[in-house]
Amino acid sequence: MKFAAIAIFLLSACIAGSYADKDFENEVYEKSTKFIQDFKRLGSAPDVSQYIPKRAGPLINYAKRYFAEKIIMTNEAPKEIKDLTCSACIGAAGSIIFDYETLGLSGEALTNILTPLCGVVLDKDVCRGAIENYLPELKYMMDNKGLKASRVCSLFLQGKCGDWEILNNWEIEVPPGKPEPEEPTLPSEGSSAYKVLHISDVHLDLSYTVGTVVDCGKPMCCMNSTEMTNDASKAAGVWGSFTCDLPVWTFQDMLMQIKENHGEEIDYIMITGDFPSHEVWAQSREWNLAHSKMMSEMVTEAFPDTLILPSVGNHESFPTNSYPPHDLNVPEFSIDWLYPTLAQYYSKWMPEDQQMKFVEEFSQRGHYSVVIKPGLRLVMVNPNGCLAHNFWLNWQWVDNSGVLQWLVETLHDAEIAGEKVHIMSHIPPGNGDCLGAWGRNYAKIIERFENTIRAQFFGHTHNDQFLVFYDAETQSRPVNFGFITPSVTTYTGLNPSYTIYTIDGPGESASYRVQNKEVYIFRLSEANNAGLAERPKYFKLYDVQNDLEMASLFPRDFDQVARRLATDDEYYAKYFRYYNHDSPGDEHSRRRVVCAAVTVSNIDDTKCDELMGAE
Ligand SMILES: [Zn+2]
Ligand SMILES: [Zn+2]
Repeated sequence: MKFAAIAIFLLSACIAGSYADKDFENEVYEKSTKFIQDFKRLGSAPDVSQYIPKRAGPLINYAKRYFAEKIIMTNEAPKEIKDLTCSACIGAAGSIIFDYETLGLSGEALTNILTPLCGVVLDKDVCRGAIENYLPELKYMMDNKGLKASRVCSLFLQGKCGDWEILNNWEIEVPPGKPEPEEPTLPSEGSSAYKVLHISDVHLDLSYTVGTVVDCGKPMCCMNSTEMTNDASKAAGVWGSFTCDLPVWTFQDMLMQIKENHGEEIDYIMITGDFPSHEVWAQSREWNLAHSKMMSEMVTEAFPDTLILPSVGNHESFPTNSYPPHDLNVPEFSIDWLYPTLAQYYSKWMPEDQQMKFVEEFSQRGHYSVVIKPGLRLVMVNPNGCLAHNFWLNWQWVDNSGVLQWLVETLHDAEIAGEKVHIMSHIPPGNGDCLGAWGRNYAKIIERFENTIRAQFFGHTHNDQFLVFYDAETQSRPVNFGFITPSVTTYTGLNPSYTIYTIDGPGESASYRVQNKEVYIFRLSEANNAGLAERPKYFKLYDVQNDLEMASLFPRDFDQVARRLATDDEYYAKYFRYYNHDSPGDEHSRRRVVCAAVTVSNIDDTKCDELMGAE
């Protein structure tokens, strides 16, 4: 056992990929091992600061910013930081896994060791809660399959860290017989069109408390557990706060205003997941389900007769991001507590004749497909096999739960039946926290079925974006694109928003392509200043056709937009304002913003380098 663990560790160290800084990794491994030994000798945690290598200083500062500002390591970090982070992760995780397996550390001892280590970059309460939440599944994996530091770190950090080549070395087969690509055309004059409401990332905070402090030192504030403040400039506002998730009454008012201003024209509604808030260290299964239930009841009350299409985000589960393979039949970890319950909440939204099929599909794997117009099928792709922060990818990283295989079969059936398809999913492929191989395989499927897929809708990033897919062989022909819809929640630094798409159809010649996208917001600071007696003033921030100066919204048009964003400063500044919902938002670099529009796998920088130059 001991030798096996040493062999695995050495092997993982040898094949650690391009981010390796072996000296630093060894130093972290030694210090971490010494910390664990001293812990065992003393019976409690010694002062952790004595065990931190000098070179870790910049890394700790960066990690603090990462957690505070959600900077994604793969996109933004300088190379030295990536090297250090990957090496520190492999060193520390390697020592902890080795000591667990060889010294027989108990779960409690592991919690007491990990809490001060985590406390170097995060609040102690947050650390303790997060460790208590995630340790049982990690322990189960260590006991039943073994965990490898170089895989754990590669998955969590993404990019080219640790075992990234092994984790990304898999392919999904697509069926032969691809039809010739069709060039999209504009609908004929006078043909019909309809409007769809899309809301994403609601992140309700059921405990939002006005007057609590907005910078509480934790990743999220303004909760009933947050302390109150007399300083009005630091107090949680009546309609929301930029460092917090959304009060229930703000969402309620948004739904009412949508109904008042667009109710008649909304044909159906898409909701792309993430209903619970970001206090991930203090949640439970019941608490997270309560958010999904309340959201579904609020939307039903506002739109009782409208077709509503939900999808699963990364926050519905407990712990957040934890989505075991659908066929894992271990009562403590099985996903059976979530999908069948959500299916019950949502089934009433489906067309009556498709409810049974919906419940069956959704209850099993948290995805579904449904015909929503004559000749138009909506396919909801569960993104949790792409979610790199889902520790269960250590258990099964090749097409977790068979989602991509199911997508291929569903699209093939649609192609044979002559249907057109809209795809709805939570996490855009290419995102920093979506497994690179998942993104690459997803894009391969999109390319194979480029004629059938008429639109794609994502959320998750909270920013307002788009994503162009290119042919894999030459990376020069834009074959499809997706919209990334801005969040309802203010977290972090964003005015609340909702989006309305205009779509060509239905009718004989319906293409079901999107003709326009309009984004509506209200200014949070103004609303808070006006007080609760006045409702927030929503207005149209922009629409894609006019404000991004696009004659049509086809893949080649978005390719042109991406190129222009790289070169035209004024145009970029305008786009960046929309990206952040015209609010303080995130200080993302231009490279990150532009590259996110052309990157479908976070281990392939080809298009990014083409547009922005190699780093
Ligand atoms: Zn979200
Ligand atoms: Zn999300």
